[in-house]
Amino acid sequence: MTIDITQFFLGFVLLAFAWVVLDLLFERIIGRIYHWNKGRKIRECHLCGKNYKESTSLKISHCPDCDALNTRKRHRRLG
Ligand SMILES: [Zn+2]
Repeated sequence: MTIDITQFFLGFVLLAFAWVVLDLLFERIIGRIYHWNKGRKIRECHLCGKNYKESTSLKISHCPDCDALNTRKRHRRLG
Protein backbone atom coordinates (compact mmCIF):
# COMPACT_ATOMS: atom_id res chain seq x y z
CA MET A 1 0.00 0.00 0.00
CA THR A 2 1.37 3.35 -1.02
CA ILE A 3 0.16 6.80 -0.03
CA ASP A 4 0.25 9.43 -2.72
CA ILE A 5 0.59 13.14 -2.10
CA THR A 6 -3.17 13.89 -2.21
CA GLN A 7 -3.94 11.27 0.41
CA PHE A 8 -1.11 12.62 2.53
CA PHE A 9 -2.44 16.16 2.37
CA LEU A 10 -6.01 15.03 2.93
CA GLY A 11 -4.91 13.20 6.06
CA PHE A 12 -2.92 16.21 7.17
CA VAL A 13 -5.89 18.56 6.71
CA LEU A 14 -8.22 16.16 8.51
CA LEU A 15 -5.79 15.85 11.40
CA ALA A 16 -5.43 19.60 11.66
CA PHE A 17 -9.21 20.00 11.57
CA ALA A 18 -9.68 17.37 14.28
CA TRP A 19 -7.01 19.09 16.37
CA VAL A 20 -8.74 22.48 16.09
CA VAL A 21 -12.15 21.02 16.95
CA LEU A 22 -10.80 19.12 19.94
CA ASP A 23 -8.90 22.17 21.13
CA LEU A 24 -12.02 24.33 20.89
CA LEU A 25 -14.10 21.78 22.78
CA PHE A 26 -11.47 21.36 25.46
CA GLU A 27 -11.08 25.11 25.90
CA ARG A 28 -14.83 25.57 26.13
CA ILE A 29 -15.20 22.86 28.78
CA ILE A 30 -12.28 24.17 30.85
CA GLY A 31 -13.60 27.73 30.56
CA ARG A 32 -17.04 26.65 31.69
CA ILE A 33 -15.68 24.85 34.73
CA TYR A 34 -13.45 27.80 35.56
CA HIS A 35 -16.28 30.31 35.30
CA TRP A 36 -18.60 28.06 37.27
CA ASN A 37 -16.09 27.81 40.12
CA LYS A 38 -15.18 31.47 39.95
CA GLY A 39 -18.80 32.61 39.81
CA ARG A 40 -19.58 30.75 42.99
CA LYS A 41 -17.02 32.38 45.25
CA ILE A 42 -15.41 35.34 43.55
CA ARG A 43 -17.12 38.14 41.76
CA GLU A 44 -15.70 40.54 39.29
CA CYS A 45 -16.77 44.14 39.46
CA HIS A 46 -18.29 45.27 36.19
CA LEU A 47 -17.06 48.83 36.74
CA CYS A 48 -13.50 48.63 38.05
CA GLY A 49 -12.82 44.97 37.26
CA LYS A 50 -11.71 44.15 40.79
CA ASN A 51 -12.12 40.54 41.89
CA TYR A 52 -13.48 40.21 45.37
CA LYS A 53 -14.85 37.45 47.49
CA GLU A 54 -18.56 37.71 47.99
CA SER A 55 -19.55 37.93 51.60
CA THR A 56 -23.23 37.23 51.19
CA SER A 57 -25.12 34.76 49.10
CA LEU A 58 -27.39 37.49 47.85
CA LYS A 59 -27.90 37.96 44.17
CA ILE A 60 -26.49 41.48 44.25
CA SER A 61 -23.34 42.49 46.12
CA HIS A 62 -21.36 45.69 46.54
CA CYS A 63 -17.85 46.18 45.24
CA PRO A 64 -15.50 47.11 48.15
CA ASP A 65 -13.57 49.53 45.96
CA CYS A 66 -16.08 51.54 43.99
CA ASP A 67 -19.29 50.42 45.72
CA ALA A 68 -20.88 49.37 42.46
CA LEU A 69 -23.66 46.83 42.41
CA ASN A 70 -22.70 43.50 40.91
CA THR A 71 -25.02 40.67 40.09
CA ARG A 72 -24.05 37.05 40.37
CA LYS A 73 -24.32 36.42 36.67
CA ARG A 74 -23.69 38.76 33.81
CA HIS A 75 -26.36 41.39 33.81
CA ARG A 76 -27.98 42.55 30.64
CA ARG A 77 -28.15 46.17 31.77
CA LEU A 78 -24.92 46.39 33.74
CA GLY A 79 -22.89 44.63 31.09
ZN1 LIG B 1 -15.68 48.01 41.62
